[in-house]
Amino acid sequence: MSNHLFEAIRNAARGDSVFMELADGRTWTYRQVLSFSARLAHAISSLGVQAGDRVAVQVEKSAEALILYLACIRCGAIYLPLNTAYTLAELEYFVGDAEPRLLIVAPAAKEAVSLIAAAYGAVVETLDADGGGSLIDIANGRPDDFAEADRGADDLAAILYTSGTTGRSKGAMLTHGNLLSNASTLRDYWHFTSADRLIHALPIFHTHGLFVATNVTLLAGASMFLLPKFDPEEVLSLMSRSTVLMGVPTFYTRLLQNPRLNKDAAADMRLFISGSAPLLAETHADFRSRTGHAILERYGMTETNMNTSNPYDGERVAGTVGFPLPGVTVRVVDTATGKPLPANETGMIEIKGPNVFKGYWRMPEKTAAEFTRDGFFITGDLGKIDERGYVHIVGRGKDLVISGGYNIYPKEVEGEIDQIEGVLESAVIGVPHPDFGEGVTAVVVRRPGASVDEAAVLKALAERLARYKQPKRVMFVDELPRNTMGKVQKNVLREQYAGLFV
Ligand code: ATP
Ligand code: MG
Repeated sequence: MSNHLFEAIRNAARGDSVFMELADGRTWTYRQVLSFSARLAHAISSLGVQAGDRVAVQVEKSAEALILYLACIRCGAIYLPLNTAYTLAELEYFVGDAEPRLLIVAPAAKEAVSLIAAAYGAVVETLDADGGGSLIDIANGRPDDFAEADRGADDLAAILYTSGTTGRSKGAMLTHGNLLSNASTLRDYWHFTSADRLIHALPIFHTHGLFVATNVTLLAGASMFLLPKFDPEEVLSLMSRSTVLMGVPTFYTRLLQNPRLNKDAAADMRLFISGSAPLLAETHADFRSRTGHAILERYGMTETNMNTSNPYDGERVAGTVGFPLPGVTVRVVDTATGKPLPANETGMIEIKGPNVFKGYWRMPEKTAAEFTRDGFFITGDLGKIDERGYVHIVGRGKDLVISGGYNIYPKEVEGEIDQIEGVLESAVIGVPHPDFGEGVTAVVVRRPGASVDEAAVLKALAERLARYKQPKRVMFVDELPRNTMGKVQKNVLREQYAGLFV
């Protein structure tokens, strides 16, 4: 019997060394984690879950919630974590789509979720933020070891729903081989060893916090501080006892707002990693001058795990996502012809490698449409590869604006607008226009107390951008719509301003 992913994790586990330390100082050694995962695996099996069954989990972040992921892997079940922000109506969509055998939710949600679950024959158990709940009651007293279900590299380990930035979330089917190969590659690429201690402040329902952070730490036999959420004060306090931080760009902008961030505070850290959304070059530069650390930016997505990374030893170039990871092939192709483009030309980013998912859950047509004939995954992201081999993300294909036959990359226009005095941030979108097809529209958030207006923005841009790139309208809002991962939802803006020119 063999279980591809779990065996690698067990082989890397370091007995009585600490794997997790919680905010209140409680610790979990590797041995405790493994035996608790065995008890949970027995509990899950006793509820009728068999290899290949889905186990959907919508619970607060906790050590127990993380170990539940390992328990599912050991049972051969398909782990399906759900964003804690999803409402009951949203949950119903996921339950209907994934048809889990077992649903683990917060105690307060049990009653309502049970009504939904009953329609699909799913069992509902609970897990609370402090690690209690009916699932734990079932697990207590069960054996500390578990005979793992046989699972090969090609068997599914998880279904992870995408962040839903561009539309409805899709379930990405990830195999044991996808997860293990990517985590091993990242461990080596980022020089993770058992001496490392990661600050884990990301959610665990998303690829970043779940697979990148957790699997890399496990496979290195390293340890981590498991924090319920990101709190800049707490992160700053832990830095002297840690070595690595993995974050989304807002972690870094918020750390920069804190006067405690300086070279001394970050002296014991060896690595700051950023991903999930673009890190502004300005943030990279500010962070470097304040702490002496060049943030290492990498690029990945739910469907592919991580694809590229800035180098550990070489130059970390701000505004780029670095080089393809070992074993991963990245190419940029012409969106119209599908032909590979030369260096520095912008097109669609396509990926091939052991990291790329098996397809979208129960969406065979969508899956077929997103792969090329020679087996590359079409990411939907536009970018280019420069002459030194660094990959640059230009934006999402769906966000490209085509006005009067010209391509306008929103990121370029946003970069100019964001430099205007009084502007906090902006989002540039295309909305239907009778003459131009789409009209470039800027949605701007002012800095507190600023009075910058449409005329001032247009005037500032007139000298800086070619005419076709200049917004036809500038709209002001208090804040940009964001999803729970902090990504700007341009589809919401496009809907809101759909009638602007027609
Ligand atoms: P959906 O596919 O449901 O619309 P989503 O694409 O935001 O949502 P994720 O899989 O969580 O869901 O995010 C992957 C996307 O995040 C990538 O396709 C890319 O657009 C963006 N991304 C990730 N890392 C970076 C980065 N370093 N720089 C720029 N964009 C990034
Ligand atoms: Mg996506």
